[in-house]
Amino acid sequence: MKLYDVIGVGFGPANLALAIALQEIGKLTDKVCFIEKQANFLWHGGMLLDDTTMQISYLKDLVTQRNPTSHFSFTNFLHHQNRLDSYINLKTFYPSRLEFNGYLSWAASHFNDYCHYAEEVTDISPITGQNGVEFLAITTRNHEGHEQTRHAKNIILSPGGNAKIPEVFTDAFKHVNVWHSSQYLMNKDKIKPGDKVAVIGAGQSAAEIFVDVQNISHQPKVDLVFRAGAMKPADSSPFVNEIFDPSYTNLMYENTPEQRSAFLTEFRNTNYAVVDEPLLNDIYGRLYTQKLKNETRFSIKNNTYVDAAAIAGGQVNLTLRHAQQRSYIEKYDHMVLATGYHYSSRPPLLKSVTPWLEDDIARDYQLRTVDTFKPKIFTQGINEATHGISDSLLSILAIRSAEIADALNIS
Ligand SMILES: Cc1cc2nc3c(=O)[nH]c(=O)nc-3n(C[C@H](O)[C@H](O)[C@H](O)COP(=O)(O)OP(=O)(O)OC[C@H]3O[C@@H](n4cnc5c(N)ncnc54)[C@H](O)[C@@H]3O)c2cc1C
Repeated sequence: MKLYDVIGVGFGPANLALAIALQEIGKLTDKVCFIEKQANFLWHGGMLLDDTTMQISYLKDLVTQRNPTSHFSFTNFLHHQNRLDSYINLKTFYPSRLEFNGYLSWAASHFNDYCHYAEEVTDISPITGQNGVEFLAITTRNHEGHEQTRHAKNIILSPGGNAKIPEVFTDAFKHVNVWHSSQYLMNKDKIKPGDKVAVIGAGQSAAEIFVDVQNISHQPKVDLVFRAGAMKPADSSPFVNEIFDPSYTNLMYENTPEQRSAFLTEFRNTNYAVVDEPLLNDIYGRLYTQKLKNETRFSIKNNTYVDAAAIAGGQVNLTLRHAQQRSYIEKYDHMVLATGYHYSSRPPLLKSVTPWLEDDIARDYQLRTVDTFKPKIFTQGINEATHGISDSLLSILAIRSAEIADALNIS
């Protein structure tokens, strides 16, 4: 069986950036491949809503901070689409998410010969020889259930996050009318005239979906339900934004565990349970206009706890409690859980190799292992606790991918 130098698990922006970095240093050979469970490249397809924009500058694309002259820059993409002049006239650093997905898909299309789409990696197992673990067996399953195994000396695990479903919603989430935000666009058409929708959460996705439901032409009702006292703005001011600079990764990594977690707490309001200020202003304006017209089609239920979520007669019955008041039941036809993602630094896929893994990860994203374990395992996008908030974002893709490409001893 062919022995790959590198197999990348997942082909989202992180491994796409890595493919580019490998190509640019001449290390992308036929002994490198990526495996992606989606049928084609798609960046958070369930949330590619109209009128949503990127939360970082397009200069933080897949390459520019490392190699501004790269073929794979966002600017070169615009040039290839004959949209560069028009884009300049937009006067913005923040393209729409639809356009950024177009950019990423364009970049990914250059690597079709290296990526196996529509295959999910289901197992990673050690293959042992006389001196310990020599390489890894990566097993995949395609959409028809067909299994395939490939062998690799190194793997780069970049699986992204998994939908976080708070316990109170576990049962309701099994129902066809209850979706995580990542499934929103695939289900939006189920919202019919006269329906009432609950959106749970107070972060960017919750706010975006709240507005998107309002914009549906047949005008369903929609409530935004969350525990916090108010929706709060994301801090993207310049000094704070420096925490997303690639050089900040060193600072974070060199800290003690206590300092790291204090840092994450201090800067939580850059990324978690916060909303871009223009969107907050838009929502406030919409609510004001509604008040003016004496209408009640959409509302914000802040300070509101969901004590129970039950399905009855095809509807979602939420037991809600506003601060210290008595609880009451509110009925909805659909519920969207914009409750975020889990990023496990040790995903279940690593279970079979766990006995050889040490607790730590190196600065170059390589999991530390015992000496008898020869393969190298790198992880990307799931190391917020050790490498900082930017790890699950796009901010450091150009630089991190080169750091990993350099650390891979392939020729
Ligand atoms: C709606 C939304 C908007 C965002 N906007 C921004 C933004 O503006 N700026 C920013 O910096 N960050 C943003 N983010 C954060 C986001 O995490 C990053 O943009 C980026 O997607 C991270 O790339 P990744 O490759 O690490 O993870 P992902 O993009 O999640 O990609 C992981 C890939 O791995 C695949 N995969 C997972 N498990 C397997 C398996 N077992 N087998 C095969 N394939 C597998 C998945 O299908 C997926 O394609 C946003 C996130 C969301 C949800």
